Amino acid sequence: IQWYPGHMAKAQKQIKERLKAVDLILEIVDARVPESSINPMIAELGQNKPTLLIMNKADMADAKRTQQWIETFKKRGITAIALDAQHKSKLPQIEKVAQEILADKLAKKRAKGILNPVIRAMCVGVPNVGKSTILNRLVQKNIAVTGNRPGVTKNQQWLKAGQSLELLDTPGVLWPKFEDPAVGNKLALTGAISDAIYHPDDVVVYALDYFKDFYPQQLVKEYHVTPAELEMPAPDLIMALTKRLGFKEDYDRFCMKFITDARKGKLGRFTLDIVPVEAH
Ligand code: GDP
Repeated sequence: IQWYPGHMAKAQKQIKERLKAVDLILEIVDARVPESSINPMIAELGQNKPTLLIMNKADMADAKRTQQWIETFKKRGITAIALDAQHKSKLPQIEKVAQEILADKLAKKRAKGILNPVIRAMCVGVPNVGKSTILNRLVQKNIAVTGNRPGVTKNQQWLKAGQSLELLDTPGVLWPKFEDPAVGNKLALTGAISDAIYHPDDVVVYALDYFKDFYPQQLVKEYHVTPAELEMPAPDLIMALTKRLGFKEDYDRFCMKFITDARKGKLGRFTLDIVPVEAH
């Protein structure tokens, strides 16, 4: 429903138009799904535009994997940084890293006599990765930069987000595009796709199998899963845990609880995207 083609085509057109006016794409992803929450459409539309990948919600992700993913992206020629926008992280590093990425371009501008060249960026990301949180923190309240800029419609605003950083106000919601059902399950578990379009039991079967393999202790801690239960196929484990929690045969109730627990961080930190082997 959400990737209704007309809607998508319109969003794509808008994004393409706006990308023409920026120096840098700030793509925000969820650090728990750093690869699955990348929107491939952006790279396609951006056509080699420099990108800073912000792995937000790093406080909820597996710290070791976050580091490995940063290395992996580096090998792919992409600068990625980890961020916890809600809590303590220093947001100014976004501006600093942006300056590093664009160092050559900025040096050229300085050579032409522009003393304090501005970086124009656009923030993109699939729903719920923390775009609004980051924007609200970056943008100094009520300071909109006026004046016409090439390639952008008049009524679009540039917001001052740092000494040398200006952000183009973000186009509407960008739905993730995926064909792989595992990617759908990952995005559902982390909350990037809406509850109406996935089956909680599919998500939980996927997630339990994953946690059994990579984070078994977190299942033991939260649900007192026994060693024998860790060997069970996921559907059997769902039945066992539903009963244990006193939900009788209401498996959906357990599945919804599991998803809520995972999103709230009650199941501990986790990362669902496996780091490609060469990065280890
Ligand atoms: P948007 O849909 O991308 O604009 O996402 P929001 O900015 O609305 O954030 C979605 C939810 O994630 C909100 O409940 C935020 O408080 C929360 N959130 C945002 N950034 C972080 C973060 O770095 N860590 C954690 N734990 N939560 C975050």
